Amino acid sequence: MSFRARLLTFFVLIVVVPMVAMGVLMFRLISDSQQGKADARASGLASTAASLYEAEASLARADSETLARAIGRFREPALVSHFSALASRAGLARATLTAGARTLADVGDPFAIAPGSAVLVQPGASGAMTVSVSELTASQYARELSAPAAAVVVREGSRILSTTAAVADRVSVPSSGNVTVDGRGYRAVSQSFAGFDNTRVTVTVLSALSATSATLSGSRVIAAGLIVGFLLLALAFSVLASRALQARLRGFLQAAQRLGSGDFSSPIRVEGRDEFAALAGEFNSMSTELSRRVDELSRERARLREAIRRIGHTFASSLDRPAVLELALQTAMDAVQASGGRLCVVSAADGGLAETLRDGSLAGLEDAIAQAENAALQNGGFAEELAAGTSVAAVALRVPESHADAHGVIAIARRGRPFTDDDRQVLCSLGAEAALALENIELHFQVSRQAVTDELTGLANHGRFQELLAAEIEQVRRYHHPIGLIMLDIDDFKAVNDTYGHQQGDAVLRHVASVLRENSRDADSPARYGGEELSLILPHTDLEGAFAIAERIREAVEGLRVARSDGGGILRITASLGVTSSTLGEKDQLIADADGALYEAKRRGKNCTVSAASRTADAPGGG
Ligand code: GH3
Ligand code: MG
Ligand code: MG
Repeated sequence: MSFRARLLTFFVLIVVVPMVAMGVLMFRLISDSQQGKADARASGLASTAASLYEAEASLARADSETLARAIGRFREPALVSHFSALASRAGLARATLTAGARTLADVGDPFAIAPGSAVLVQPGASGAMTVSVSELTASQYARELSAPAAAVVVREGSRILSTTAAVADRVSVPSSGNVTVDGRGYRAVSQSFAGFDNTRVTVTVLSALSATSATLSGSRVIAAGLIVGFLLLALAFSVLASRALQARLRGFLQAAQRLGSGDFSSPIRVEGRDEFAALAGEFNSMSTELSRRVDELSRERARLREAIRRIGHTFASSLDRPAVLELALQTAMDAVQASGGRLCVVSAADGGLAETLRDGSLAGLEDAIAQAENAALQNGGFAEELAAGTSVAAVALRVPESHADAHGVIAIARRGRPFTDDDRQVLCSLGAEAALALENIELHFQVSRQAVTDELTGLANHGRFQELLAAEIEQVRRYHHPIGLIMLDIDDFKAVNDTYGHQQGDAVLRHVASVLRENSRDADSPARYGGEELSLILPHTDLEGAFAIAERIREAVEGLRVARSDGGGILRITASLGVTSSTLGEKDQLIADADGALYEAKRRGKNCTVSAASRTADAPGGG
């Protein structure tokens, strides 16, 4: 149910229902009061009728006494004739003379009412006689009582003597209560009085209800007007109140929506000092606090981003792989306040995981960590596990959207608090930055290696040979220990190329390079001097030692069986070697001596080793 519908229901309950009840009560009271008024009017008319009747009866009584006295000296039958004559002369409405149940004389209008009686006792008579006189006929009486909006019905038993209600003879008029005559309502009040011959005269007064109903409808209109007016006023007030309430609520709703969308700029207007004002005040302070927290959070986030960016720079500029790994683990743990963590690297040889670094406590989490690490490595990104109230997250050290495999994986654990989206984002970007740094390092060393390595044979190239030899010569200059140098040239190599093609020549070169490597000690440096000419630097080696090594190499080359690329069997080759040794520390001389010895070996028929004369500080020269 909407707020407005509720207000309306509330309004109906507390205003309309009581008002309707009050209206019903008012109408009832008005109606009762009108009944009272009609009763009062009818009673007034009845009382007038009674007074008039009594007054007339009293007058008639006096008349009857006068008449009785006047006829008292007569005896019957003169008495009766005198009575009639006197009664006629007196102009009475009716006069009767009775003796017991016998009527002696009855003069005048039989419709006369309100009689007065006197008793006539004559000496010697057998019984008393009664003189009854009336001055009033029923129609006179009815006329006397006639009043606007009223009618009179005079009856004797069921006989109507007179009536001012034209239709009364057609209607049976009740002695009291309401009666409708010709569609007009009357209030009836009846009284009964003494009539002639011990009969009873019933006088019914009819007071028209319309005489008082004008005020009744007036009162009803006023009451109805008051109730309707009050209802309208209440309705208007409730509509205004509901609108005002709704406007305030709408204000709050809009403000809440603004807050929800991150707009803290426009507070709610605080009006007055009511509960709404208090609520608005609270709302505004909540909004201010929220805005402050949001600012704080975005500053914090900016700081974090900046830190990650700086770490990224550090990563990018560092070529120290262990340091980069350590920094990555530390930063990941610090960024999400982890309680423990470890870093595993993927072995280049077998693709297995090897733990390289560990920090904090990871006890009891081994399974969860292993699962998260495997999942992260499989999806190449992020994975989470939950173990005994501790959240475990793993992020692969992999450059996103590249086809390269992950370098490793960082797993961290945090007790109690699950990781948030922000945490996940931070860890993912950290993993990506660290992976980029590791790739940089690898690339750097690869490029460096390429710069000093001969691609075909994997031996040091000519430039590197010169560097290495220079470095060794430096040692010789300082410490005067001997250095040996072997120069090797494959015999008739051109013929191999010419006969079997350059690829076969390359294969032969690689085989001879392997022989050189296999016959080198750790401190020795094999190199490709140029073309099919290889060399071997032998630190701390005198001429004799160098010669022995050279011979061993020559024999090994001679023993090589190189498969022919055309599938036509195997190929055998030989090489010529020139050997020299010196303690003088002259690089170019050393090379020239070895070269000279090699030339000599070629000249002697190839597949042999020739020593240059050993050059020492005490015994320079030789041949
Ligand atoms: P000798 O016995 O006197 O040393 O004769 P040789 O044929 O070995 O010497 P020569 O100097 O006449 O020929 C050397 C050949 O080595 C010429 C060149 O094409 C070839 N060569 C140099 N470098 C490479 C290489 O990297 N691969 C191949 N397949 N051949 C090479
Ligand atoms: Mg050559
Ligand atoms: Mg050659």
